[in-house]
Amino acid sequence: MIFENTLTFAQQQDSQDILADYRQKFYHPVIKGKEVLYFTGNSLGLQPKAAKEYVNAELDDWARWGVEGHFHATNPWVSYHEILTPASAMIVGAKESEVVCMNSLTTNLHLLFVSFYRPTQQRFKIISEAKMFPSDRYLLETQVQHHGFKPEDAIIEVAPRKGEHLIREEDILAAITEHGDELALVFFGGVNYFTGQLFDMKKLTDAAHQVGAIAGFDLAHAAGNVPLNLHDWNVDFAAWCTYKYLNGSAGNVGAIFVHERHGENTELQRFGGWWGHNKERRFLMENHFEPMKGAEGWQLSNAPVMGMAILRSSLDIFQAVGMEKLRAKSIKLTAYLEFVFNQVVEKFSDINLEIITPEAPEERGCQLSVKLVGIDKSFFQALTEAGVIADFREPDVIRLAPTPLYNSFEDVYRFGQTLSHLLETWK
Ligand SMILES: *Cc1c(COP(=O)(O)O)cnc(C)c1O
Repeated sequence: MIFENTLTFAQQQDSQDILADYRQKFYHPVIKGKEVLYFTGNSLGLQPKAAKEYVNAELDDWARWGVEGHFHATNPWVSYHEILTPASAMIVGAKESEVVCMNSLTTNLHLLFVSFYRPTQQRFKIISEAKMFPSDRYLLETQVQHHGFKPEDAIIEVAPRKGEHLIREEDILAAITEHGDELALVFFGGVNYFTGQLFDMKKLTDAAHQVGAIAGFDLAHAAGNVPLNLHDWNVDFAAWCTYKYLNGSAGNVGAIFVHERHGENTELQRFGGWWGHNKERRFLMENHFEPMKGAEGWQLSNAPVMGMAILRSSLDIFQAVGMEKLRAKSIKLTAYLEFVFNQVVEKFSDINLEIITPEAPEERGCQLSVKLVGIDKSFFQALTEAGVIADFREPDVIRLAPTPLYNSFEDVYRFGQTLSHLLETWK
């Protein structure tokens, strides 16, 4: 596809975009009287306009029924979380029995580690990516300490080679082989939050299994962004949040995947709670925890219905669109951003802004990470003041995520114009 950095071209692309109408289904922030260019769907997705209606329905039922709403609400709360399962399973490529929405991301990862990180003196190491999202790193450190190991012995970080920004797959595979006998777990972000690098989860899973280790993924930046096929890839477990690409609202409920072969194993160690207990006997208030089969057997508490109602308003949109169409637009929109960005930046030879995200579509989602070289953080602030909502990650990266559900080609074109004006006046 030949791109052009013109308004006419961008508008033409929007008029041919079969997902263009979805833009209107979200509220776009207006700051200082102007609709912003919102490129932070990777951090907090926009609010679906239908969210209020979904929440109001539950508030009305609460007013009407009180506690009886658990069974008599239009969508009985006792099983409300089940409504979210089909779309969640579709988004990550899982069977419905392998997925459940519950708790939040870091909490869920700790719970999954109870089942899937069971180190022995011989096999205790975890291979992960260097520069993980801090919460994941703290998870790893405290988990290995909990089992009596030292982070410096147990956590093997695979880093980019000197002078490079991305992690080479061959280096991950080599590390898995090297630590084979001592390896308990391969734990990666499906898409790295910092660089936007998408890892081949099937390959990493196969490699982990080959040496007798478990493979788990944090899909915070992958769910709703890139196609996933967790069941067929044989991934052991995964967890994600729903407030990024899934537009679930700040801090809302997260979700987990547990592969069927583990979900069927009710002997697997876990921490129990009544919502994970045999559904038929849940209200008999008996002793002796008897986990449900499938991912639901990891639930602890009854479901937070109000938050789930918001999430439902977004997942309904995902289900209507499907990941295939979303991905097709995403590939094109991100390539357009890359093109426009490079066109603009090329003209300023004394300023160095470099995209560090992989160029190949199969190695990235929609996010592009731009490294600032010889230009400080105030440039990012100026971008914000000019009406571009992106985000800055220390020490020197601006992340831009054109989100296919609600960003347009015109957004990208306008971003290019803003960037160009800003660079002209810079210094
Ligand atoms: C956003 C994000 C988190 C946040 O974790 P919470 O428990 O939801 O606060 C964790 N890990 C990664 C990789 C993330 O991108």
